[in-house]
Amino acid sequence: MQSPRYFLNHFMPFTGYPYTGAPTACNLCGSTESVTVAETDRRLKTLKSIACAECGLIRTDPMPTPAELADYYAHAYRADYQLAFAGGPPRVHLKRSAREAAFRAELLAPKLVPGARLLDFGSGSGEFLAAARARGCEAIGVEPGRDYSAYARTTHGVEVLDDAGDDRFEPGTFDVITTHHVMEHLRDPADVMERLARWLKPDGVLYAAVPNMAATGKPPHERFHFAHVHGFVRDTFDLTARRAGLVPHTGYWREDTTVVYRKTDAPPVAIRSPGLAQRLAEELKPMPAAAYLASGAWIWPMVRRNAKAVRETFSNR
Ligand SMILES: [Zn+2]
Repeated sequence: MQSPRYFLNHFMPFTGYPYTGAPTACNLCGSTESVTVAETDRRLKTLKSIACAECGLIRTDPMPTPAELADYYAHAYRADYQLAFAGGPPRVHLKRSAREAAFRAELLAPKLVPGARLLDFGSGSGEFLAAARARGCEAIGVEPGRDYSAYARTTHGVEVLDDAGDDRFEPGTFDVITTHHVMEHLRDPADVMERLARWLKPDGVLYAAVPNMAATGKPPHERFHFAHVHGFVRDTFDLTARRAGLVPHTGYWREDTTVVYRKTDAPPVAIRSPGLAQRLAEELKPMPAAAYLASGAWIWPMVRRNAKAVRETFSNR
């Protein structure tokens, strides 16, 4: 188990995360110009997020290195996300996952026909793979989280790969590819979107969903999390898809950053969103710290999130 010091580094408010990182160019358009949109995250820890001045894609700055992200996932992520495995995923996660899988299967029903080939990129505990297979699809998952993939294989009997590089599948392999709340975790989401588009048949569909950073109804800093190294809004998500040769499929329901895309032959467009970075900086401007602290709105979320982390950190030692 992690040391108490590791716990403090990751959960103590008003301090930075134990990582060094390195500045990166925008993964979507390659620009290095940026506008700062946040200095703290949902835990009120110091975490700088910037929006690309050219296209508006939000990223953590400096960007954690692959090794630092791996370390984070290995030690702090479970506590952060309350998805710790002690004999299986917690029931609250499975319930939510089953609900989401049923929704996704219903949305994609016209394509989930017997014999259809389906890839779930970031398949988690496997509920959507099971739902697709129940509809007769030939379903395969990719999931780097070993606990999750093991659970999916054991419980649902589904096929799950630990990883999938570019050459893992032939171009045009799948009728349906889905990726639910994965892109925001990746250092190279635009490149991965291109890879998924290549694996898609010409008439295939890509369901992609990420948190909407422009979501109203919660304080701006609540939208930032160390594990989410990229942040999307409707415009930047569609631009990421467009760079990969995809456009929203108008035959399907969409909500902001939950979208079904299809391939397009239309010529490439310029990857830029004039003014978006400035708009995001304005929208995501934090409540003044004193006002926020005085409101007391931070107490319950912090207690809730940290209670389990504390239990996990100090148990089994
Ligand atoms: Zn950019």
